[in-house]
Amino acid sequence: MEKKKIIIIGAGISGLSAGIHALLKNFDVEIYESHNLVGGQCTAWHRKGYDIDGCIHWLTGSKKGTSLYSVWETCGALSGETEIVDHDPISSYIDEKGDIYYLYSDIHKTEEELMRISPEDKKEIKHFIHIIRAFQGMNPPTEKPEEMMNKFDMFRFAFPFILKMKKMQFAMSLSVADYAKRFKSQIIRNLLLSSTPNILAANAMFFMLGLRTTGDGGWVQGGSLRFVQRMQQRFGELGGKLFLNSNVKNIVIENNKATGIRLGNNDTLIKADYIVPAIDMYALLYQLLNNKYRIPYFEERFSDFLKYPLISTVLVSIGVKTNLGHRPHSMSFKPSREVIIGNVTHSFITAEHFAYDPAFSPDGNTLVEFLFPDFNYEYWEKLREKSKEAYKEEKKRIGDLLVSELQKVYPETEGKIELLDVATPLTYNRYCNAYKGAYMSFLTIPGNMQKNYKGTIDGIDNLFLAGQWVMPDGGLPTAALAGKFAVQRICKCENINIKF
Ligand SMILES: Cc1cc2nc3c(=O)[nH]c(=O)nc-3n(C[C@H](O)[C@H](O)[C@H](O)COP(=O)(O)OP(=O)(O)OC[C@H]3O[C@@H](n4cnc5c(N)ncnc54)[C@H](O)[C@@H]3O)c2cc1C
Repeated sequence: MEKKKIIIIGAGISGLSAGIHALLKNFDVEIYESHNLVGGQCTAWHRKGYDIDGCIHWLTGSKKGTSLYSVWETCGALSGETEIVDHDPISSYIDEKGDIYYLYSDIHKTEEELMRISPEDKKEIKHFIHIIRAFQGMNPPTEKPEEMMNKFDMFRFAFPFILKMKKMQFAMSLSVADYAKRFKSQIIRNLLLSSTPNILAANAMFFMLGLRTTGDGGWVQGGSLRFVQRMQQRFGELGGKLFLNSNVKNIVIENNKATGIRLGNNDTLIKADYIVPAIDMYALLYQLLNNKYRIPYFEERFSDFLKYPLISTVLVSIGVKTNLGHRPHSMSFKPSREVIIGNVTHSFITAEHFAYDPAFSPDGNTLVEFLFPDFNYEYWEKLREKSKEAYKEEKKRIGDLLVSELQKVYPETEGKIELLDVATPLTYNRYCNAYKGAYMSFLTIPGNMQKNYKGTIDGIDNLFLAGQWVMPDGGLPTAALAGKFAVQRICKCENINIKF
């Protein structure tokens, strides 16, 4: 019997995951990617001998034995040979006197450290540790999409949440900023505030700490690009066809059914039995589907960014000609001067170095990154519209400012700067077609927990959505799962067993 053909649009994590899962179910698979390399937002770029890692800062499912690890294993991204680095301490804060305070992977050590800092916060510290424990081992369901779960599956998934419901609700009810205020100690507040974007619901911080204190959420040796290139290799080995530099202009719909795609370069029509877009949702709805389909779920979200914030980033990367391996991997501090980025003043800045991995820098040198959350795409857009020079100058100002801050906190970097690279939300828009440069889907803020989207569009058959946008808050694991779930939805249509 002739194989059914699936076209996937986009070779990010989600598109490649969809492609690999579809090949494992014996479909004929083609992926069309507009860029000249795979990975989408999971990427790195090479400058002056350094590899600037533009993505993985912690990977959920890096721990063997977790259900997400099996998904990464199926995708070829992780195997027994992949080295994972679990940085301990998780994060550090250095005060004006040069004293350093830590959050550790060992939850007992963290408790001791916080008690050392502020015994008068004992009650709140106990509560903090209690909530972290509640978040340990919490993972999204990875086996199948929600609508395919029976009562038993639902119970299995929901049971741990029900047991911890009160703690979960508490963590979702207030922002990181408000949560930090519960501590009397300014040092503890600063440690927490520098760990997670402050407007997010505190569950984001507890989720991260729950992971990191159980040996999950590690760094992958070799970084983001090699991670995704292993998926590309797996896709190729299974017989998938990948077309790079192939921008998809639109999706062809005939009689309410997706039947193919048209490429932007030459208008070529390519037919298939199923189409799986694994791209930015705004681009899909308003460009590839020509704004013809009303989806209240997305319309609501795209029209209210206060309730459904989209996060982008300003990523400042600095290559230094010295080994910073003796310094904590992640160090937050109060800058000596005002650090204003995109109209926002940052009270704390965090330097993360990559000295643990030779893949990122020439021998004996170190790559350092400052990653600033950015919610103000319009600021960058206006600046760029004003003039190319103004945009370039602002990037230079930010870069120089952070070099000088780095030199203050790590004096051994003085006079040893070899590389300075600044990426803004416009960079992520330009390279990944990401709406407002967003690198995650809609984020959870206090009192507004995100819901998954169902993965299909009413009025279009044979179109199954992948990509992080159907599973907010987004991120690498949900991108991979959304790809797998899109294929399981196709399997259901074809009466194929959905189990992997
Ligand atoms: C600085 C930074 C740090 C991050 N840190 C982490 C982290 O530590 N942990 C974590 O889990 N996640 C992290 N993320 C988020 C993670 O990178 C994303 O969630 C994930 O990569 C999204 O994958 P995706 O496949 O859904 O989408 P994308 O990566 O956006 O892939 C979409 C692909 O589609 C292509 N495309 C778009 N339009 C078209 C078209 N018309 N035709 C053809 N191709 C098209 C794009 O070029 C792209 O390759 C980070 C992201 C950034 C930027």
